[in-house]
Amino acid sequence: MTDFTMTKDAEGIATIVWDCKDKSMNLMNMEGMLQLDGFIDEALGDEAVKGIIITSSKKDFAGGMDLNVLADMKAASGDNPAKGVFEGIMSMHNALRKIELAGMDAKTKKGGKPVAAVLPGTAMGIGLELPLSTHRIFAATNPKAKIGLPEIMVGLFPGAGGTTRLVRKFGAMGASPYLLEGKSLTPAKAKSAGLIDEVSDDPMTDARAWVLSAKDAELVKPWDSKGYKMPGGGPYHPSGFMTFVGASAMVNGKTQGAFPAAKALLSAIYEGAQVPFETALRVEARWFTNVIMNPSSTAMIRSLFINKQALEKGAVRPADVSDQSVKKVGVLGAGMMGAGIALVSAQAGMDVILIDQKQDAADKGKAYSEAYMDKGIKRGKATSEKKELLLSRITATTDYNALKDADLIIEAVFEDAKIKATVTKAVEAVIPDDCIFASNTSTLPISDLAKASSRPEQFIGIHFFSPVERMMLVEIIKGNKTENRAVAKALDYVRQIKKTPIVVNDARFFYANRCIIPYINEGMRLVAEGVSPALVDNAARMLGFPVGPLQLVDETSIDLGAKIARATKLAMGNAYPDGQVDDVVFWMEDQGRIGRKAKAGFFKYDDAGKRLGYWEGLADKYPLLDQQPDLIEVQQRLMFIQVLEAVRSLEEGVLMDIREGDVGAILGWGFAPWSGGPLSWLDMLGTPYAASRCSELQSAHGDRFACPNLLREMAEKGQSFYGRFSSADKAA
Ligand code: NAD
Repeated sequence: MTDFTMTKDAEGIATIVWDCKDKSMNLMNMEGMLQLDGFIDEALGDEAVKGIIITSSKKDFAGGMDLNVLADMKAASGDNPAKGVFEGIMSMHNALRKIELAGMDAKTKKGGKPVAAVLPGTAMGIGLELPLSTHRIFAATNPKAKIGLPEIMVGLFPGAGGTTRLVRKFGAMGASPYLLEGKSLTPAKAKSAGLIDEVSDDPMTDARAWVLSAKDAELVKPWDSKGYKMPGGGPYHPSGFMTFVGASAMVNGKTQGAFPAAKALLSAIYEGAQVPFETALRVEARWFTNVIMNPSSTAMIRSLFINKQALEKGAVRPADVSDQSVKKVGVLGAGMMGAGIALVSAQAGMDVILIDQKQDAADKGKAYSEAYMDKGIKRGKATSEKKELLLSRITATTDYNALKDADLIIEAVFEDAKIKATVTKAVEAVIPDDCIFASNTSTLPISDLAKASSRPEQFIGIHFFSPVERMMLVEIIKGNKTENRAVAKALDYVRQIKKTPIVVNDARFFYANRCIIPYINEGMRLVAEGVSPALVDNAARMLGFPVGPLQLVDETSIDLGAKIARATKLAMGNAYPDGQVDDVVFWMEDQGRIGRKAKAGFFKYDDAGKRLGYWEGLADKYPLLDQQPDLIEVQQRLMFIQVLEAVRSLEEGVLMDIREGDVGAILGWGFAPWSGGPLSWLDMLGTPYAASRCSELQSAHGDRFACPNLLREMAEKGQSFYGRFSSADKAA
C-alpha cells in the first residue's frame, strides 16, 4: 500500500502527493505517516531539492486520521499500551516537527527548505494539522471545502500538534472555536481567520512560485522566533489569566465535566502554554494518550463515527431491494411534526404534498418552512432564491387527490388510532398501488395501525424526533407484516434527508421512547421519594444528558405524560407498573402545572417562558428527605433504568443490532455521549459488575431493576456486548 508518492522536477521542487488508492477521501494511518516521513527525509537530504510541496491528487486534501486506527490504537499497542500509544503519537509529532524545521540551522534559523501545503478541497483533523506544520498553506477556491479540527466531536482532541500550534498561533481564546467546538470554515473564511495563508483558483502554481522565492525568515514560525509571546498571553499573564479561568468555567459549564476529551484538551492547552514548544508537544501527546486510554474514546469513536456512518451508508438495508429513492412525498397532518417533515423533505429536493383538514392549517405548516428559510437568510446561511426553490417544492392543500403520484406517504395526524385509520383508508384510495405508507406515531404499535391498511406489507413506521430539522435520528419500525421494500424505502428516504436511521421491530414505544419514558419516570419517582429536584436533574446533566428528567417532562408537558399513562394503563391492564409515577403526574396535572407551555411545571417560569428555578410547592406534597442520597446512587438509578430497557429491547428482538441501540440512544435522546451508548456503557462497567449492581438496585428500589436474563447469562460467561454481538455484519 502506498498512500504517498514523491516526484522531483527540474526546478528542484519535490512534490509529495497523498492518494489513498482504495478510498474516496485520504485518511492518515501509521504506515502513511512513515511513508511521508521517509519522503521528507529524502527531500531534505537531497541537495537538488530546493523546496517541497505536499498535496493530494483527490478533490479533497484529507478527512483526517483513520478513526478505525485510533479506535484500535490501545489494543494494538502491546503489553504497555499507554507507552505504545504515547510513542506512536510522538513519532507523528517528530515527523511534523521535522517538516516545520525543514533542516534549518538550529541557531541561525537559516538554510531550511520551504515546505508548502496545497489543499484542493477539504482538510480536516490531521489533514489540517499536517499543513499547519508546513510554512505556507495554499487552498483552492472551493466553497464546498471544509477546513477545521473536528476531533472533539468524536471524543478526541487534535493530537498531532494541532492543539499546540493553534494555541501558539491564535492564543487560547482565538483557538478555542476550532479546538473546543470543532468549528470548520470554508477556504475563504479560513484565510480571513488566518487559519490558512492563500486561496486562489490555481494554488499549485502559487505554491510553486512561493517555494522558489521563499526567504529564510519566512520559514521560521513565530514560536521558533526570539521573543515570541503567545497572543492574548499565557496563563500567568494578566489577560491570559482571565482567558484560562473563563475557558475552564465555560467548558465545565457546557460539558458538566462529563467529557474526558474536553478536560484533557484544556489541560493540554493550559500546561502546554507554560513550557517551550517541544515540551508542549510532549504534554499534548500525554493528554492525547490519556484520552485514548480512556474507554470513553473508543466507545465514542465506535458509535458516533464508525457505526453511525455504517448505518447511514445502509448497513441494515435489505440488500436485495433496488434503489427506492423518494421523488414525491405526501405528508398528512401539517402540525408541528408534519411541518418539520415537509421542510426536511423539500430541503432534500423532493416534491412535497402537505395535507391538513383545513387550508389554513396546511398553509400554516408550509409557513414553517418559510419562517425557517427567512431565519437562514438573516444569518447569511440561505438566499431568497433557495427559499423560493424550497417553497416551490411544497404544495399545501386539503385535497387528497394531490397524492395520486406520491411514492411515499408519511402520516403525522393526531395521535389517535381511529383518526389514523380513517386517514390511512382515505389515502390508500388515491395513492398508487406501490406507494409506501409510513406513520410517524410515537406510541401506537405499527402492526395495529397497519390493520387499517389494505397493504400491510407496505405499511411501516418512520418515527421522527422533535424538532425534526434538528434531531438527527429517525427510528424505522417494522410491523409484523412489513416487507423489505418498505424498509428499503424508509432507509433510502432517511439517507436522502441526511439523517441517521435505526430499524427496530414493533413493540410498545418502539426503542427510543421505551427507554426515555423510564428515565423520566425514575426522575419523578426520585422526587416522590423526597429527593431534591435539582439533585435529580443535575445528576443527569453531569452524566452528559442535555436535560434532566424533570426538565424534560416540563418541555414535553405533563398532560402528554398523563395522556400516555392513561392510554398505556388501558392497554396493559394489571401489568401496568407505574402507580407511584402516576401519583406525581396526575397531581401535577391537577395543580395545573403541566409544564413549560403553561409556564408552570416542576419549574417556575417568567412570562417569556424562561426557567426561574424549581417550584417550591412540590415540597408540600413531597417533602425533601433530610438526608439526600449520594450523587452516584442517583446517577446509577437514572442510567440503569434506561440501559436495562435497552437490554430488554435486544433480548426481545425489538433491537436487532447493538450498533443501532447505541447510536440511536445518543442521537435520539442524548444518552450520555461519552459512554458510546447504553450497551457500550454496560461493556465499560463489565457485565458481571452490571449484573450484581442490578441485584442491589432491585432489592433497594424494586423489580424494575431486575437483571434481564440476557445480561445475567452474559455476566456468568464473562461476555461483553461488543464481544458477543460483534460480527462483520452485526456490529463494529
Ligand atoms: P399536531 O397536533 O401538532 O399536528 C397534527 C396535525 O394533524 C394537525 O395540524 C391536525 O389538524 C392534523 N390532522 C388531524 N386530523 C387530520 C386529518 N384527518 N387529515 C389531515 N390532517 C389532520 O401533532 P404533532 O405533534 O405534529 O404530532 C403528529 C404525530 O406525530 C402524532 O402521531 C405524534 O404522536 C407524532 N410524533 C410527535 C412528536 C412530538 O414531539 N410532537 C414526536 C414524534 C412523533
